[in-house]
Amino acid sequence: MKILITGGAGYIGSHVVKALGKLGHDLVIYDNLSTGHRQAVTYGELVVGDLAEKSKLEALFEAKKFEAVLHFAGSIVVPESVAHPLKYYQNNTLNSHFLLSLCEKYKVKKFIFSSTAAVYGMPEDGLCTENSPLSPINPYGHSKLMTEQMLKDLAASSEFRFVALRYFNVSGADPEGQLGQSFPEATHLIKVACEAACAKRDHLKIYGTDYPTSDGSCVRDYIHVSDLAEAHVRALEYLERGGKSDILNCGYGHGFSVKEVVKLIKEVTGVDFKVIETDRRAGDPASLTAKVDRIHGILQWKPQFDDLKVIIRSAYEWEKKKPY
Ligand code: UDP
Repeated sequence: MKILITGGAGYIGSHVVKALGKLGHDLVIYDNLSTGHRQAVTYGELVVGDLAEKSKLEALFEAKKFEAVLHFAGSIVVPESVAHPLKYYQNNTLNSHFLLSLCEKYKVKKFIFSSTAAVYGMPEDGLCTENSPLSPINPYGHSKLMTEQMLKDLAASSEFRFVALRYFNVSGADPEGQLGQSFPEATHLIKVACEAACAKRDHLKIYGTDYPTSDGSCVRDYIHVSDLAEAHVRALEYLERGGKSDILNCGYGHGFSVKEVVKLIKEVTGVDFKVIETDRRAGDPASLTAKVDRIHGILQWKPQFDDLKVIIRSAYEWEKKKPY
């Protein structure tokens, strides 16, 4: 298939590019390289550009006749979205609107969207099914939820079909060691802790130990990036088979607290880095864990790396050698 992948030079996008490239798809990666890396594009043609560069993006649609779009490009840091909300509505909502308008104009009918567990806000028991109430507590979650709504409305009014994958906490790195997280000024827990274990940071902060969870720290569902990449491959195959539009949680269905993750990272890396317990971080819900029956049923997705130690080990291996 001829596929456009926005944000394909980024962390998750680059793992999906590799998975689809191996299957022989014809890929065009569109990325502004603000957080992505040229070296992370292992297959396909990289076009450097921003989604807000409208004529450039439209020229690409005109020239390439895409059959599907996978849309990863966007901003993803919850605390930053609290401090700079309009950046998030621009990058995640308005840019998605423009991309969808091109899909409509150029009759691209298959679309995979990177959504997020942040659309759920603060679920009462921390467990999210796709039908749980949607009530984001930060601009990041709102900016993604608005795009989900556009997708639903567009699909209802035309032959356009989509799968939106609501990512839980994506972590780890390519098991072949070729790709990993190289976000400048990373904020995600496992990444930051691996940097601390590699002495690239002096310490790790635990944000909040007074949450209503078993040990007071936040609980999240950590999913290996290569399993997530495989979910995208399956989602595309599902649409190719004529599958209906759908929204699916993407996690493993079990949560770990920040303290549990930190303990395991110290165990796996053998490094007793400094940890400072501090105040809560703005925009963090206490607990987010996925119910995953739907993705298993609809995509027949079979995770290979559902083991937090394996996730941590791959992230640490990447952090040690990080070539870019
Ligand atoms: N966290 C932390 N210290 C860090 C980074 C994250 O205690 O340096 C916590 C954060 O408060 C949240 C959890 O780890 O409870 C996961 O945060 P992350 O930024 O990895 O992902 P998010 O859930 O915000 O998308």
